[in-house]
Amino acid sequence: MPIRQLPEQLINQIAAGEVIERPASVVKELVENAIDAGATRIEVELDGGGVKLVRIRDDGGGIAPDELPLALTRHATSKIGSLEDLESVQSMGFRGEALPSIASVSQFRIISRRRDDAHASMIEADNGRLSDVRPAQHPPGTTVEMRELFFNVPARRKFLKTERTELSHIEDQLRAMALARPEVGLHLKHAGRDLLRLSRAESIAERVDALLGESFLEQSLSIEHHVAGLSLHGFVGLPTAARSSADRQYFFVNRRLVKDRVIAHAVKQAYADVLFHGRYPTFVLFLDLDPTAVDVNVHPAKAEVRFREQRMVHDFLFRSLHEALAQTRAGQVSTQAN
Ligand code: ADP
Ligand code: MG
Repeated sequence: MPIRQLPEQLINQIAAGEVIERPASVVKELVENAIDAGATRIEVELDGGGVKLVRIRDDGGGIAPDELPLALTRHATSKIGSLEDLESVQSMGFRGEALPSIASVSQFRIISRRRDDAHASMIEADNGRLSDVRPAQHPPGTTVEMRELFFNVPARRKFLKTERTELSHIEDQLRAMALARPEVGLHLKHAGRDLLRLSRAESIAERVDALLGESFLEQSLSIEHHVAGLSLHGFVGLPTAARSSADRQYFFVNRRLVKDRVIAHAVKQAYADVLFHGRYPTFVLFLDLDPTAVDVNVHPAKAEVRFREQRMVHDFLFRSLHEALAQTRAGQVSTQAN
């Protein structure tokens, strides 16, 4: 076969292979966009485990009518414009990949209105072909609607699990995001049924309470530690609250949920002498640091990060947690002495 340039639609579908694994990835990308748009209220409506329908409505800043086609164009973003912007990026998105990727593997529609627009505008995408922008009805904010995920990529569709499993992935995803955004109200519905209704919270603690139950905070130590540009706050579970699986471990770097080896190692070490083998600590922790000190552009779905000063971050985390857990260590010694 000769070398040839691939068509745009196929390029987007290839990108979708990296970014969009399942309905939960669609929900993640769309909710992140709503957060970046400054939404204070986000409604998520699903059907068929999110395969049939994901509809996300926000009250954020909206999109200009003439920019709607751009929003669905690859590598088009309002969030960065230069390498310096990329290196200090604070928004969740910056790659300009999510919407065109999702649109290339589903039936897709955006309706949006900025605060000062007289009316809303709508654009649709069908098999990668964009419709004209048409007037529509919508309050200020944006609704993004995705139907029939992977309808045109049977090989991917086949890999989707049951409605129940896909739904539970979405719920996990949303809970994690909601923990990091107490200031945003969140409403989740599946097939017309309410699954989660969170009003805007005043603090992380209030949100943790609403999502993980009162007992979580009762069995946790509150942490707040700042050293040389690094800040850690949140809640770490007492050794007695440890679980048989790692299902209650939330670590956010600049409010982004991440899995990271450096972090995992520091946490494990800090708990090493207070936990039995095979038990997993619970925690909701927020590490905040200068955005230039961490590279978020190492993973297409941004689930991983790279710290510029790995050692420093590791030691800071270990010390903060070790110190907090020292109280419980002292407690254990005295119980043993009795
Ligand atoms: P990225 O988030 O990386 O910029 P996306 O493909 O997710 O790329 O979105 C493309 C652009 O569309 C964004 O940069 C933003 O300007 C706009 N956009 C997407 N979703 C929303 C939304 N809910 N509200 C306002 N603007 C949005
Ligand atoms: Mg985005």
